[in-house]
Amino acid sequence: MSENKKIEKITGVKGMNDILPDDAPLWELFENTVQSVLKSYGFQQIRTPIVESTHLFARGLGAVTDIVEKEMYSFEDALNGDKLTLRPENTAGIVRAALEHNLTYDGPKRVWYNGPMFRHEKPQRGRYRQFHQVGAEALGFSGPDIDAELIVMCQRLWDDLGLQNIRLELNSIGDAPERNLHRADLIAYFESHSELLDAEAQRRLYSNPLRILDTKNPAMQSMVNAAPKLFDYLGEESKSHFEGVQKILRDNSIPFSINTRLVRGMDYYNRTVFEWVTDELGSQGTVCGGGRYDSLFSIFGGKATPACGFAMGIERLLELMKASGEAHNPAQCDVYLVHQGEKGRAQSFVLGERLRDAGLDVVLHCASATGTGSFKSQMKKADVSGAAYAVIIGDDEANSDAVTIKALRGDDVSGNQVNVPFSSAVDYLVDQMTGALETDACCDDPNHIHIHH
Ligand code: ATP
Ligand code: MG
Repeated sequence: MSENKKIEKITGVKGMNDILPDDAPLWELFENTVQSVLKSYGFQQIRTPIVESTHLFARGLGAVTDIVEKEMYSFEDALNGDKLTLRPENTAGIVRAALEHNLTYDGPKRVWYNGPMFRHEKPQRGRYRQFHQVGAEALGFSGPDIDAELIVMCQRLWDDLGLQNIRLELNSIGDAPERNLHRADLIAYFESHSELLDAEAQRRLYSNPLRILDTKNPAMQSMVNAAPKLFDYLGEESKSHFEGVQKILRDNSIPFSINTRLVRGMDYYNRTVFEWVTDELGSQGTVCGGGRYDSLFSIFGGKATPACGFAMGIERLLELMKASGEAHNPAQCDVYLVHQGEKGRAQSFVLGERLRDAGLDVVLHCASATGTGSFKSQMKKADVSGAAYAVIIGDDEANSDAVTIKALRGDDVSGNQVNVPFSSAVDYLVDQMTGALETDACCDDPNHIHIHH
């Protein structure tokens, strides 16, 4: 190839991010914490496909919603003509799966999920085209206790993640008959102020007037603020359900404020709706949203099954964790194996496996195109890895059946290097690692190595 033709670079899709190794520890911390909190409330994991039939979302979320109108990645399968969509959310998919597999046949079920969602939105801070949600769905529960439990569970998660400054907003949007009464009055009200309605509001006036309340148009704010409030239309059952939720929250010391304008973006919600909001993320401040959706099972043609759930945006929560100093940068490994020569490499492979058998994380130095590299360059890599120890097996060590162990971390690192027989290297390192972990806050012993892992 003598021509110096420039090859065009292929880049990622706009609004869809790579999660790089440096960020992986924070994701792992978040996901492990979520998993253990959800498990501690008896929630079981469910994984549904990323691709679903397009009409699942059109029917489930409502045709006149932001998501269905303009945010879905929908396409036709070129091979068979199926109309498919990358899931913009996971509640519809879970209800479909619950119906298909009769998940609630022997009683209510608590399930949770974690995975990527796709919405064609304008990418900006906290708003991406591929983003990730963790969600929980309580299927088959009708009482206010489960609504409250979901909220208490969120609070525990924030606490475990060290997150403060997330506040809870709560509302009840009642049941269908109440909403229909309100809707009629709302349409009449908007009709009497038609000169103030923007194009979007006019288009939604008869199809989804409730969503007009959600407008971000400043010119419509005061008119919208004075509109009839759904809250004033709630009947006895909706009211007592809502009071039940509030009582449990109060009993459990969960602060909340009632926001009668909170309506949420999907049609399937009824009664309790809630959002967890922070002021620390700019305008994308909602980190979690949820509510009750008692009619979704019947909308999909199944037996009426009450349900309640929430979804949280992982990217927004991780940003909040970073902002609150929750930096998490654990070492890549405990031990880095440095070696030279054929025999040194062979010994390193053997030692590496034995150390892993003993439960340590080990990185073995591997050659580049120019060879294994000098001791010096290998030691640099060892240091960057964050390992507590480098184990060195050069020609001298290999020929005398020994290894050199050098502490790389801690208070008294300088010159801390020992030569031990190959056969006792594992015991020595395990002792040092566990000793350092157990007595981290000591000590007078000058030979003691402190590991801050
Ligand atoms: P918003 O009002 O911010 O658009 P939403 O009401 O559309 O949010 P939900 O459908 O309730 O959001 O999703 C639950 C959570 O998922 C949100 O509170 C948010 O944290 C997160 N989320 C939603 N859309 C995005 C996105 N495009 N990028 C990143 N996170 C998102
Ligand atoms: Mg949205």
